[in-house]
Amino acid sequence: MSGIDESLRPQKSRITIFDEPVICSFCSHDVYIPYEVFVNVEQPGVDVRHVRYIAICQHCGKAKQFGDPSHFEKDEFIWALNQYLISIRSYKIKVSFYVGKKNNDKITKFTNKLIQDFGIEKENINISYLKGVAELQIKISSLNEIQTIRTQIMNSARRLFITIKDLTIK
Ligand SMILES: [Zn+2]
Repeated sequence: MSGIDESLRPQKSRITIFDEPVICSFCSHDVYIPYEVFVNVEQPGVDVRHVRYIAICQHCGKAKQFGDPSHFEKDEFIWALNQYLISIRSYKIKVSFYVGKKNNDKITKFTNKLIQDFGIEKENINISYLKGVAELQIKISSLNEIQTIRTQIMNSARRLFITIKDLTIK
């Protein structure tokens, strides 16, 4: 079993304890930022690591607490914790959709939904409109893969009864 011989880094990551992924019990996501916390209780003479972590779920913000159950087994040290760092990627999204002649409401609703879904800053979204078709150009940063982002956008559109004409993400 592989392991790390240093503290978990406070960066966005997936974490495993004895190869079991740490999963949020509130939202089922598995991306955390772990913070090492110091425990006051000292047990002199006992060779146990008193490392504890509070990990914050990056999806819902709930905290999870766990220790480091690494230990010696027949003179061999068994590392319990593994950390897989996740990098945030930038994407450019271009999405066009049908709005009809006087339905600016759809543009506002869809734009607001995407701003909410992806935490987009206003300056990273550009709206244009031509002959019943609106087009949004958006810059986002995300931990997700293109396929996941595409599905999110399609689902949001469906919920608002919006028909997508074209969607490109790169
Ligand atoms: Zn969560």
